[in-house]
Amino acid sequence: MLIDSHAHLDSERYTGDREAMLSRAWAAGVGAVLSIGIGEGPAEMHQALGLCRQFNGQRENGANFPRLYASAGIYPHCTTQADDYVLAKLDALLAEPEVIACGEIGLDYYHEGAPRNVQREGFIRQLEIAAERKRPILIHCRGSNETTDAWKDLFLVLEEHWRSTGLGGIMHCFGAGWEQARRSLDLGFLVSFAGNLTYPKAELLREVAARMPLDGILVETDAPWLAPAPHRGQRNEPAFVAQTAQTLAGLLNLSEAEIASATTENFYRLFNLRPDVGH
Ligand SMILES: [Zn+2]
Repeated sequence: MLIDSHAHLDSERYTGDREAMLSRAWAAGVGAVLSIGIGEGPAEMHQALGLCRQFNGQRENGANFPRLYASAGIYPHCTTQADDYVLAKLDALLAEPEVIACGEIGLDYYHEGAPRNVQREGFIRQLEIAAERKRPILIHCRGSNETTDAWKDLFLVLEEHWRSTGLGGIMHCFGAGWEQARRSLDLGFLVSFAGNLTYPKAELLREVAARMPLDGILVETDAPWLAPAPHRGQRNEPAFVAQTAQTLAGLLNLSEAEIASATTENFYRLFNLRPDVGH
């Protein structure tokens, strides 16, 4: 059984076939999906929880879908909207049992949809709420053009505001170097690999992945974006997480079954969940 640790199931690109998409994921061996609750902005932060309840309900009635979990968070670009009302909404969502993580949150200096100081402030306020609700965090971090500036600032914030919680989190769609991977593990984070691991130009990322300890890895799709080879360029979906797992297995000289059980175990350990799901 595989777990897709990051998918935007509420994307409108699934409006026409969301049920069929989830059935395909189940058929591909995906036993659980973490549905990311950022929407197109804070007004849609609750959508992941809604889907989680809807499809888990159908699952309990016998439908062949993966078990869904939800997150909630304010994406770096949207931190200009992180006022008291929005932060109270986040807090209320994190109080729900299905909402197991706060994210994706962090710093993005590549697109810089919000000024850096606003991103940082919004990030820290969310860390405070997540700490209070005892929810691990899902980190989005992207530097400006090939630099590690955002990572440097990210680790400063995490050292000051997060390490002491002991809650850890996930470095989502990891794309940085070994130094950043090593520091993430040291902070108690899991490093999640997405479809870009399969791309021809990702040689450096594959070298990082090949050095990862088995208890530090996860796989994800970041669907609907970033479809792995051979689906690159198409709409991505949770079923395709199998391709990334296969690539990771090759890099670590392990069988696909070993990667599946390690990543599943890591996910349950981080979120303190009982392994009662799956095939
Ligand atoms: Zn995402």
